Order: sequence, then C-alpha cells, then structure tokens
Amino acid sequence: MFRSSNELLDKVFKALLNYPLCDRCLGRLFAKYGLGLSNPERGRALKILLAMIIHKELSSSEGVLSKEDLVRIAENGGSPISELVRYYVGSVNVRKCHICGNKLDMLINELTVKCLDLLKNRDFKSLLVGVEKNSTYEEREKEVVSVLGVDSWESIRREIKREVGKKLHLITSTEPNFREPDVLLVLNLDTEEVKIRSSQIFLRGYYLKLGRHISQRWWYSKDGGLRYRMSVEGVADKLVGVFLSDGILIHAAGREDSDARMLGGGRPLIIEVVNPRRREFRLEEVNNALLEEWVKIRVLTTSSSKELEEVKKARKPKVYRVVVYVPGGLEEEELKRIEEGLSNSVVRQRTPRRILKRKKDVLRYRKIHVLVARMLSKYLLELMIMCESGLYVKEVITGDEGRTSPSVSALLGKEALPIFLDVLEYVRD
Ligand SMILES: [Zn+2]
Repeated sequence: MFRSSNELLDKVFKALLNYPLCDRCLGRLFAKYGLGLSNPERGRALKILLAMIIHKELSSSEGVLSKEDLVRIAENGGSPISELVRYYVGSVNVRKCHICGNKLDMLINELTVKCLDLLKNRDFKSLLVGVEKNSTYEEREKEVVSVLGVDSWESIRREIKREVGKKLHLITSTEPNFREPDVLLVLNLDTEEVKIRSSQIFLRGYYLKLGRHISQRWWYSKDGGLRYRMSVEGVADKLVGVFLSDGILIHAAGREDSDARMLGGGRPLIIEVVNPRRREFRLEEVNNALLEEWVKIRVLTTSSSKELEEVKKARKPKVYRVVVYVPGGLEEEELKRIEEGLSNSVVRQRTPRRILKRKKDVLRYRKIHVLVARMLSKYLLELMIMCESGLYVKEVITGDEGRTSPSVSALLGKEALPIFLDVLEYVRD
C-alpha cells in the first residue's frame, strides 16, 4: 500500500483510489485544512501534490505503486495525475465525479441565474440562500465520507449555500442577513429549482367598524356563501395590490360580535403582509388604499412578529354601550337595582349557548367595573358598561337561561333583550 509519510496525503490517495472526485468535491472533503482557499483550489492543490509524489515515485527505481493503482488514481483524479500516468504508463479514461458527476460548477452558476431571475421585480435589502436537505448529491457525499472515514469535510449544502450566496450578494450589492433576511431563496439540487419567499411585513394600527353586520374575518356559512357582505379582513385585503403580495392576514386584539360597532379609538390591529414583492412604501399610500366607508383601518407604523404576539395576548378593559329592550316596560327606580347589582361585580358565565357549537363549555369569571343605566323610553334602556376583557356582554343582559349571573334580566325579574351593542372604547394603558 502507498505511504507518503503524510497522513493527509494518504487520505487523499485513499479517496481517489476509491472514488472519482472532481477538484471541488475532493477539496470539500478536506475543507478543514487551509484558510482562504476555495474547495476547487484546495482539491486542485491536493491533486498537484499527489501528482508530484507519484512522479517522484515513478522516477525512482523502487516504486511501490502497482500499474493498476496508478491507472485507477489517474482515472479517478484526472488532471494533472492523468497526464503524468498517460506519459509513463499508458491510456487513461478519466471518470466523472462520483458525488456530482462534474456538474457542480455549472449547477452553482445555473442556480445563481435562476435566483437572479426570481429576484427581479422584488424589493429587498438582504437575502439568504438555503438548500433543501436529502438531495441525491448529499446521499452520495455521505456514503463517500463514511467509507473514507474523513472528519475534515464540509457538506455540499453548505458549500452551495455559500457559493450561490456570495455571487448573489456581489451582483445585487446586498449583505448577508441570517436572522431576518428580506428574501429567502431555497434551492433544490436534484430538480434544480429555486423557491423564493419574501419575509412578511407587519403593520400596526387599529380598526373601527362604523356599521353593524360586519365580521372581523370573512365568515362563510355552511353553503359556502358569505354571512356578511363586509369584513375587516376584506378591507385589509386591499393591501395585496399595494405590496404585490400573496395574501394578507389580520391579527386583532380580541373581537367584537359582527352586529356590534367598534367605535372610539378603535381596536388594535396588526396586518401581516404575506410574501410581499414590494417592500418600499409610504404609510400614506397604505392608508389611502384602506379607505372605506364603514370599516376604518388606520396603519400607524411598521411592526414585528413580537409585537403581533403582544397584541394578540393583550387583555384590556372595554367600554360598551348597550341598548336594551324590556318588553314588560320598566320604572325609573328599577335602574338603581341594575346599577348596584352589576357595578363592581364579578359575573359568572358559562360559555353562551349561541357559541357552544364553536367553543367548549367552560365557566369563567369576569369583572364589571362600572355600569351606568339610563332610560330612553318606558321600554328602552341604555347601559354603559366598563368591564374586564372577555365578558360576554349580551348574556349580561339576558342571563342566557341562568348561564350568566348576575344579569339585568334576573335583577329586574323580567325579560331584557340587547338591541344594539357598541364597543365605545378599547381602553389602552
Ligand atoms: Zn464533484
């Protein structure tokens, strides 16, 4: 067996005795050695060194390499070993790289071109390249690494990520950004396809609903039709055109019933723009696109996924206005009973019957801070309620067949029905 008195070269020899490897794939197996070298440079250097040692061996009288081994190394290593062996021994048919079939250089260039093509007409200041796992290249590489027992290798995925990334950064004058790139490009080595995705844009603002029968999300009934003709989501969807995006998602701090208006300072809202091709924008342009008669969405600033979580988790008190119909009629002095019975009280609520189909039956306690009652007529009552987040206000009026207690209905000892409900204020800190 050949011994060069150098462990590294012995490994290179073993590698080329077993597998045909191009400069790049051979260099990658020994990526740990040598700084500032590309893998093709490294692989080429190792082959040159091996060729020189073989040359020395051939010139000496006591060569230890068999003719078969020489030809095999030459066929697997190619230039410059093949030229040498051809000169001294005879014909050599250089074989294609076991890992990449000599395709890697071209593949890197082709994938770079595909990336550039996809980056056209898309705003970005930073990008990141990823490579899908488990390609056939990767499988062959793993086999070579395990058969040879090398521990100095770099994976093909990492090399391609770096090489394509380097070219793209140079051409597009961008810096790499590993944490929050504007654009992510994912390469598939087998299909030679590239998928592109721009990171989301988050916008923070609030919404008001000036009319009733407007849902927050599009709400489809069983037959596939829309329950309401308008939704906050539908208005936010207009931003698809502004950002040339794949879609818009809305994330609000809670939700009011579709038949309730959302007034006052509005409800906090984060809009998520999915895969936007356009990232440069003015707030004014965004707000102009959102103009609508019955739903007012106002974007104040850009936001983040972290803020999104905070907004979704926020539990703030609300102020409601409810117009209540009392079919039995009522007297002025009965108002006191309602105010005293509900102000500063803790309401015990089982999940309302009207939403039992959608939500689990649970028991919850919510506080009413203040309740003020005013008579509008003998049969109509206006209530202003400031309460903790999550109170089912309609059930505080009806009692929901005893599932909510105390309630206006129970305190009056007669039927009471909510006619109109408005959220007057989402109380901010
Ligand atoms: Zn190769």
